[in-house]
Amino acid sequence: MQALVLEQAEGKTVAAIRQLSSDDLPAGSVTVDIDWSSLNYKDALAITGKGKIIRQFPMVPGIDFAGKVHHSEDPRFHSGQAVLLTGWGVGENHWGGLAEQARVDADWLVSMPEGLDGRKAMIVGTAGFTAMLCVMALEEGGITPESGEILVTGASGGVGSTAVALLSALGYHVVAVSGRQSTHDYLRQLGAKEILSRDAFSGEPRPLDKQRWAGAVDTAGDKVLANVLAQMHYSGVVAACGLAAGFALPTTVMPFILRNVRLQGVDSVSTPSARRAEAWKRVVKTLPASFYQQAALEISLAEAPSSAARLLNNEIQGRTLVKIR
Ligand code: NDP
Repeated sequence: MQALVLEQAEGKTVAAIRQLSSDDLPAGSVTVDIDWSSLNYKDALAITGKGKIIRQFPMVPGIDFAGKVHHSEDPRFHSGQAVLLTGWGVGENHWGGLAEQARVDADWLVSMPEGLDGRKAMIVGTAGFTAMLCVMALEEGGITPESGEILVTGASGGVGSTAVALLSALGYHVVAVSGRQSTHDYLRQLGAKEILSRDAFSGEPRPLDKQRWAGAVDTAGDKVLANVLAQMHYSGVVAACGLAAGFALPTTVMPFILRNVRLQGVDSVSTPSARRAEAWKRVVKTLPASFYQQAALEISLAEAPSSAARLLNNEIQGRTLVKIR
C-alpha cells in the first residue's frame, strides 16, 4: 500500500510517498481501504512541519478519510461497509488517512450516513463537519435567521466556505470576511450576501464597537475574533473554532458583561458519537447539491505536500479533496 509518510531529518519534517505493508499499520480493530481523504489546515501544518502537530515519527498524516472496511474485529462493522472518520487524533498521533489503508479503533468510525458517498463525505471532511458544529452552537445559543446578520471569518477556507453554504441554506443572512478579492464571486455563489475585507477586522480591537452581528463563526482567532466580539449584538453568540490568524485572544470582559455575548468554543476532534451522527445527518440534509461541485479541488496523494504549502500560503479556496484510489 502507498502512504504519505512524514519523517524528521535535521529537525525538519520531510514528506514522501512510501510503499508500506499492511503489517506496518498501527494496532486497531478495523482496517479500512481508503478511497478519499482531504487536506485540512491541521494537515497542512503537519505535512509542512509549520505547526507542532506531530510528535512521533514516522507518521502518516491525514485527519480524515472515507473508504470501505477491509477487515473488522468489531461486530459493528463488516467488510465492504462504507465508513468515514474525522478527528480522534488520527493523522496526529495515530497513522491517518493519506494512505491506501488505515487501521483504527472501531469507536472512531462513523458508518457512512445515508445520502453521502466517500467523495462527498471528504468534500465536507473535518472542516465541513466543524462548520456544522458551529452552526449547531449558534442554534443552541438561540440564534435564528430572524435574529439578524451572521458573520463568517476566514470565509473562503474549508470551514468558512461550508459555514457560509450551511447558514445560507438555513435562511440566515450571511456576511463573509475574506482577505482575498479573488474569492468574492465564489463566496456569493455559496450564498454570502455581503463580503467584508479581513483588514477591517485586523486592527487593534476596542473593548466595544458598534453592534452589528447576531451570530458569528470565527475560524481566525486573535485580533479578528476580538474585533468580532466587540461588534456582537446584545446576547449574540460567537462559535470559535480556529486560529488561522493566531491563537491569542486580545479582548476584554466587556462584550460578555455588558452585552451578554456568548463565546462558544467548538472542537471536532473529540465530539461524542451521538453528536457526530447528528451533525453528519444535518450536513446531508442541509448542503445543496451545488456545494459539492463548487467547493472542492481534487488532487492526488503525490500532490498533497505542495497543496499543503499552498493552503498555508492562503492560495486555496474551499476544500481540497485527495483521491487515494
Ligand atoms: P483553510 O486554510 O481552508 O481556511 C482558513 C481561512 O482563513 C483561509 O482560507 C483564509 O480565508 C483565512 N485566513 C488565512 N490566514 C489568515 C490570517 N492571517 N488572518 C485571518 N484569516 C486568515 O483552513 P480550514 O478551514 O481547514 O481551518 C480553519 C481554521 O479552523 C484553522 O485554524 C483550523 O485549525 C481550525 N479548525 C478547527 C477545528 C476544530 O475542531 N476546532 C476543525 C477544523 C479546523 P480568506 O482568504 O477568505 O480570508
